Amino acid sequence: MKDITIAIDGYAGCGKSSTAKEVAKKLGYLYIDSGAMYRAVSLHFWRHNIDFENESEELIEELENIYIDFNFGRNKPFPVVTLNGVEVEDEIRKPEISAIVSQVSVHKSVRREMVSQQRRLGEAGGVVMDGRDIGTVVFPNAELKVFMTASIDKRAERRLAELQSKGIPASLEDIKANLAQRDHIDSSREVGPLKQAPDAVLIDTTNLNFDEQVDLVCKLAKEKIAKKSNKKTSQSRS
Ligand code: C5P
Repeated sequence: MKDITIAIDGYAGCGKSSTAKEVAKKLGYLYIDSGAMYRAVSLHFWRHNIDFENESEELIEELENIYIDFNFGRNKPFPVVTLNGVEVEDEIRKPEISAIVSQVSVHKSVRREMVSQQRRLGEAGGVVMDGRDIGTVVFPNAELKVFMTASIDKRAERRLAELQSKGIPASLEDIKANLAQRDHIDSSREVGPLKQAPDAVLIDTTNLNFDEQVDLVCKLAKEKIAKKSNKKTSQSRS
């Protein structure tokens, strides 16, 4: 089976990460959550009281003290993000980090650093990466690009259920406001804005259940994998 690169971009909370994770599992691919990387940078700034509203010298210099990676342990159902060697999966999902992550992600220096790390992590192919600029900036040559969307009400309901299942307190109205604010900042920033790549397949998950989303992306992926295999076979014959 030929390994391809799958880029899944889209609005906050429309099911990108859970879909990407399951697709990666089914295909035996690596899953990389690029949002977790921006969240880990935000957590570091928050813990160290770095002013993240401006791209100051202090902020740029602090990036040198941040090392983000993933633990790909055998006993883990999916890779867990680490900040300077420590797993921070639960901390990065907290509302205080969701509240600042889009402001942190606006800065050129932060994006430059994250994009280079994302390329390093996914360079071998056989990867599913989800985020905002994966199909447009990080892997513009990805064989499969998906752009996901869903109504804001549906997205907020799903996010509330997810936080509640983890015991993190939250309200539907606050979640809705945070999703709308992040979408606005993410879509209007100068560097790596959230937008659909011209060659991305648009999937609206408002009326799809989880299995349907996963099946749809797997079907698209298998078509691309078959296409790549056929191309290689015909090249080796000629
Ligand atoms: O994917 P998730 O919603 O966890 O991402 C958190 C935030 O990280 C986004 O709202 C966005 O501001 C930022 N992000 C980004 N580029 C990516 C992935 C995430 O700017 N590729």
